Amino acid sequence: MQLESFKILHISGHHLLPEAQCLFAGIAPYSCLQAVLEHAAQTSVKLDLTYDAIVCTGDIVHDVVSSHDHLADAYELFIQALRSQYPQTPVYLCPGNHDPLDLFAQLVQHAHFEPAKLVAQVNQAVVINLNQYWNLILLNSQLPTQVGGELTQEQCTFIQELVVSQPDKHVLLALHHNPLPTGCAWLDSYDFKGVDKFWQKVQALEAIKGIVHGHIHQDIISMVGNTKVMAVPATSIQFKPHAVDFALDELAPGYRILSLEANGTIEQQLYRLDVVPSVEPITGY
Ligand SMILES: [Zn+2]
Repeated sequence: MQLESFKILHISGHHLLPEAQCLFAGIAPYSCLQAVLEHAAQTSVKLDLTYDAIVCTGDIVHDVVSSHDHLADAYELFIQALRSQYPQTPVYLCPGNHDPLDLFAQLVQHAHFEPAKLVAQVNQAVVINLNQYWNLILLNSQLPTQVGGELTQEQCTFIQELVVSQPDKHVLLALHHNPLPTGCAWLDSYDFKGVDKFWQKVQALEAIKGIVHGHIHQDIISMVGNTKVMAVPATSIQFKPHAVDFALDELAPGYRILSLEANGTIEQQLYRLDVVPSVEPITGY
């Protein structure tokens, strides 16, 4: 008998602005997110699958060009886009460096956003039981006011204690920041506090089968021991791989579908929109 697998739609890097028609680097982040969610829905029909959950690894809004108060509208747009395509699917969220934690935390108070869970407090970790074979741990890697991230000893201890207390479960970790260097000098120049200690812990824990993250706006998959590390492209602008200085890439927004198997393996496939939105040059983000 084939055991049931758990299907996840992974998205990140929406960089939404307070109004649907607002542009960032020449593209409309809201339209891009809508297009990605629609594409993912069509893909699920083609593949004859249903998403058991949506995992969003942050940078839902773009706090650089909009005031804090107006960003509440950007989160409203996020809920609208997600729930018009997926009214019932559970959503699990980690904040990015561009997500103000107070507004991000309010997402779960929105009546139309149930069922959803998130990790909003600084240095927090939250576990979600997905099924009898898998746990998902959401990590808040945000280091307030910084582009780079942080994982604390307490978060690492949380992961270790969970693995030890539930030895029959496989674990997927979700966070915003990249736990591995990207090869882009400008991205790798940002500090990620505590990441070396995090890896010491993760490598000693056989149960951790995968890590999903955003932040780097690129599709990169790496194996560290038996842990598959998967960076998902943004649903908005894309960053050029191996760039020394900040540079945009001419690739379409994307998303990843993961299949968590009962035996601990993770199957995955990346998808991108068929049309590349034309971006205008920017010097940073
Ligand atoms: Zn980010």
